Amino acid sequence: MTGVGGTEWRLRCAVCGREHAVQHAAPCLDCGAPVTAHRVSGGFDVAEGAPGVWQYAGPLGLDPADAWMSLGETMTPVIPDGPLARRHGLGAVHLKLDHLCPTGSFKDRAVAAAVARGRGSGATGIVCASSGNAAASAAAYGARAGLPVILVMPSRTPRGKLLASGAYGATQLLVDGDYSVSFAVARELARRDGYANVTTTYVNPWAVTALRSAAYDLYRQLDGAPDAVVVPTSAGPLVHGLVSGFEDLRAWGLVDRVPRVVAAQPEGCAPIARAWAEGAERVREWEQVETDVSGLDDPLRGYAHDGTLTLETVRRSGGTAVAVSDDRVERERRRLAEASGVHVEPAGAIGVAALEELRIRGDLQPGERVVCMLTGTGLKRPLESGRPPLRAESLERAVAAVAEETT
Ligand SMILES: *Cc1c(COP(=O)(O)O)cnc(C)c1O
Ligand SMILES: [Zn+2]
Repeated sequence: MTGVGGTEWRLRCAVCGREHAVQHAAPCLDCGAPVTAHRVSGGFDVAEGAPGVWQYAGPLGLDPADAWMSLGETMTPVIPDGPLARRHGLGAVHLKLDHLCPTGSFKDRAVAAAVARGRGSGATGIVCASSGNAAASAAAYGARAGLPVILVMPSRTPRGKLLASGAYGATQLLVDGDYSVSFAVARELARRDGYANVTTTYVNPWAVTALRSAAYDLYRQLDGAPDAVVVPTSAGPLVHGLVSGFEDLRAWGLVDRVPRVVAAQPEGCAPIARAWAEGAERVREWEQVETDVSGLDDPLRGYAHDGTLTLETVRRSGGTAVAVSDDRVERERRRLAEASGVHVEPAGAIGVAALEELRIRGDLQPGERVVCMLTGTGLKRPLESGRPPLRAESLERAVAAVAEETT
């Protein structure tokens, strides 16, 4: 099975090993576990000047002729946060600003590739289940590709996230229940209509594969591999993409090791961190979601397999999994905004919020170089200002109000 861009790929079930056709974008037909993509041949090259993930058209097996569908979803900035590194006694903390992807989350990397692949194999439209961010990605890339888009989201999706995907002319469908219900609806719609399902769990192996681009970026931007990468984690495709991407780079002789990848989850929905703490082999679905961290509130109902694959991937990297309270996430999110000038949504801050616990547990050592993935923008879910605005009805009063505030 030959891909384009000079690489050859196979799709294989992560549990039973059954091989599937390259256009298969669904769980394993035999056992229901995730199907993942494996590169059989091909190396690393960067198509300088190509946009977004098409810079990696070769290593990701994307068709260079599809590059017009890109919105620029790669090489987001990496910045050092000195005060954060000093506070935790680390050698360096780098923030990967993936919330600056075109629609405000890293999901753009996955969806750009999945939409292009779907269109290439004749899909007549795009369907996507989402807690908000993947919906914005699917709506934008679907519009760009000229395909109709159906978005399936939980009815309690935050308003800012609904607005973010509503602008592109897609059909928005709100369904009651948690994310797992939306997930099931999207699968049903895709089955019936010949739509490509670009839901960013492990459903679409090409979406997951494109997340390797985040590892390729870090390799280029940091001049090698960091010691650890802390990743906001729901089902875990981003974890999978980072580990697989660094494994690629190691196989190609470009880095000497794979960083330890840490899965960070909110305490109120932490199926992977719970399995880690119990030393379990398998992840069980989460019973009752009790977190406001939108995007990390997937109980994995009906596809706990996905969590198990992520757990195995974390172990393979030598990493760990950790749960963080909503309060701590919100505190660190405000600190990131007020002290570092970076405004992310709660999910985007959870990696930074996990650093203290990771230091206490000894999972991060003094002097190590750590990357925190900032996965989603604050603009869809803004922090309330800590200080109400001053108001004034005239020039004189405005000047007086400011003088009073600042003396
Ligand atoms: C989807 C999402 C995540 C979780 O990513 P997974 O790859 O599903 O584990 C983290 N942060 C944000 C902002 C997201 O939208
Ligand atoms: Zn299988």
